[in-house]
Amino acid sequence: MRKSLIVLFSLFSLTLWAQTDVSKMNGFIDELMSRMTLAEKLGQLNLPAAGDIVTGQAKSSNFATNIRQGKVGGLFNIKGVDKIKDVQRIAVDESRLGIPLLFAMDVIHGYETVFPIPLGLAATWNMDAVERVARISAIEASADGISWTFSPMADVSRDPRWGRVSEGAGEDAYMNAEVTRAMVYGYQGRGDQRFANNNQIMACIKHYALYGASEAGRDYNTVDMSRQRMFNEYMLPYQAAVEAGVGSVMASFNEVDGIPATANKWLMTDVLRDQWGFKGFVVTDYTGINEMVDHGIGDLQAVSARALKAGVDMDMVGEGFLTTLKKSYDEGKVSENDINTACRRVLEAKYKLGLFEDPYRFIDTKRAKKLIYAKSHRQEARAISAESFVLLKNEGQVLPLSKNTKIAVVGPLANTRSNMPGTWSVAARLDVPATLVEGIKDVAGKKAEVHYAKGSNLTQDAELEKRATMFGRELFRDDRTDRELLDEALAVAKESDVIIAALGESSEFSGESSSRTDLDIPDVQKELLKELLATGKPVVLVLFAGRPLTLSWEAEHVPSILNVWFGGTESAYAIADVLFGDVNPSGKLPSTFPRNVGQIPIFYNHKNTGRPLVGPWFEKFRSNYIDVPNTPLYPFGYGLSYTQFEYSDIKLSTDKMTDNGKIIASVDVTNTGSVEGKEVVQLYIRDVVGSTTRPVKELKGFKKLSIKPGEIITVDFEITPEMLKFYNYDLEFVIEPGDFEIFIGTNSVENKLAKFVYE
Ligand code: BGC
Repeated sequence: MRKSLIVLFSLFSLTLWAQTDVSKMNGFIDELMSRMTLAEKLGQLNLPAAGDIVTGQAKSSNFATNIRQGKVGGLFNIKGVDKIKDVQRIAVDESRLGIPLLFAMDVIHGYETVFPIPLGLAATWNMDAVERVARISAIEASADGISWTFSPMADVSRDPRWGRVSEGAGEDAYMNAEVTRAMVYGYQGRGDQRFANNNQIMACIKHYALYGASEAGRDYNTVDMSRQRMFNEYMLPYQAAVEAGVGSVMASFNEVDGIPATANKWLMTDVLRDQWGFKGFVVTDYTGINEMVDHGIGDLQAVSARALKAGVDMDMVGEGFLTTLKKSYDEGKVSENDINTACRRVLEAKYKLGLFEDPYRFIDTKRAKKLIYAKSHRQEARAISAESFVLLKNEGQVLPLSKNTKIAVVGPLANTRSNMPGTWSVAARLDVPATLVEGIKDVAGKKAEVHYAKGSNLTQDAELEKRATMFGRELFRDDRTDRELLDEALAVAKESDVIIAALGESSEFSGESSSRTDLDIPDVQKELLKELLATGKPVVLVLFAGRPLTLSWEAEHVPSILNVWFGGTESAYAIADVLFGDVNPSGKLPSTFPRNVGQIPIFYNHKNTGRPLVGPWFEKFRSNYIDVPNTPLYPFGYGLSYTQFEYSDIKLSTDKMTDNGKIIASVDVTNTGSVEGKEVVQLYIRDVVGSTTRPVKELKGFKKLSIKPGEIITVDFEITPEMLKFYNYDLEFVIEPGDFEIFIGTNSVENKLAKFVYE
């Protein structure tokens, strides 16, 4: 069978995948589909999980038998080049038509070489680095046989209770769009280079749509919002991925406008395809079709038919398509055309990936051996990891540390390997990353004396610790009493010149199904921190976190706080690089850090309201709280450096803009400190008066530059009419004439102001 398929293929296409000739592709697929039975077409819509990796509750039925019978279009959660080769062989040699399978995996922030969690990647504000991460991920995953990744996640989220904030680029649509675009390019390639090589894999933008806006930050919960908010504040990143040529889209679990996304025709067809021009295929999330029974919109047959008719093409795990669509077809509830359309889209993806010419294109034992976890990849990971860290506080310049010193490294996260990669690193090798203690010893070298004590468990609550350390990320709970652990740490601390407290969240405290209502560092760790501070020694808090945490107490009492998220396999070395000043920190927050959970949702691009707080807090009958200021603890875009930057006032090329005109806004940025550093210069714009209310400011651009001590760099931003557009009440994308304000600065709060008029 395989032979005839390949002969047929070569008749139709000898071109590069990158320049897919659409008419040749159509001819090939027409011919193939003319030989397919209805059951075989339905088979292409089925995506079971192989079970090597656990990412959901349900199990798929015997997939090998189903592959032989032509009932499988792709397979995911399978790892290992030999295994994938064997399975592909079943599809190619033992099924009637020999159609190759897609092999998918959640390659989210690296394959075996793991980079920072996506929230950390966004914190680099370095889109070249983000693209590199996706590129290296694709190089490693493709060698192992993976042709499709369920990444990037483009869900804007303003609620750090939601565990999946770790997997996205934070609270801002523009930032999410930038990160998403860079990742799609990194995985797939750009323009006519897309899928040109066998190390480029298909990306899948997820979770379309609005998954990050779940009520109360509880995973899988209901979402409800106005269309104005949807289009102005949430949709941009998905659309950016479509414009970047993303090959596939994953439907989200949540409902949109009262209809689960998976059955929402307006979302999947009217917006995605008709409005944005998406040409790839749509896959459900894990059992997304079956879950619509619990959503309460029908039985499995009804919801499967609804999903297909809405524009969903592939069914992940649940087998609703496989088991019910034939009946719906016989009963006239779905048409042959509905099935053909979905089948064709899946086959097109395989064609574009080059699988019909060579089903083993992505499966390469030699390449796998050479490239996976390659030293050069790890070197890049170390640099990108260091760039993701955000220095939140550095009173008295405790940091950087001297290498010639006695250091106590204390805390439940100081001596773990398996937690270093962070959540959603399913291909990671958990036994190899250096622990923080090892990283510090390695970078400090012989002159330093480094001692470690655990100091406390992750949490007092053993059951909570279990939930926060799943999937092999155990922290090996210590049976000693809290007091015994503390005393041991204090003894080590007292013998040292400086204390590094490695505290915060474990890897699985965030991620899927890891929502929290309390965002403090767990009590038992806070107690440890207090006692360490009481020794009077300088304390550096190295904060591990998969989300913004509430750090009001720490911000007041701890001299130095370095937020390191989860930085990936090389993060121990990267943290040490920053602690000792070999690397100057340059990360900035892509999400607001609230003062307490009650402020959530708190984000920089809010509306003004009719009663904004103008003066200082508190004012009666103004929009504020009586117990806490409106301001966040650390605003969006915030992050310190070991040097300082000074901004001049903004110069505008003109203060009037017309239809075709543009404005250049410039500032001079000076490094006034004594070491070289990277600064992220941020541009925000406010539309002062609109036909609908507009946010107080919106991020519209940023530039990251390296500046030497004493050096002054002029930074220009080009402001175009396109940047001033928004969706009005009728959802038209328009600019309205009137006053605009421009803010340029080091974060979303500290910035310079200029004004112009659009006529
Ligand atoms: C997640 C997706 C993921 C899928 C497959 C789901 O539970 O929501 O993000 O891609 O599982 O692992």
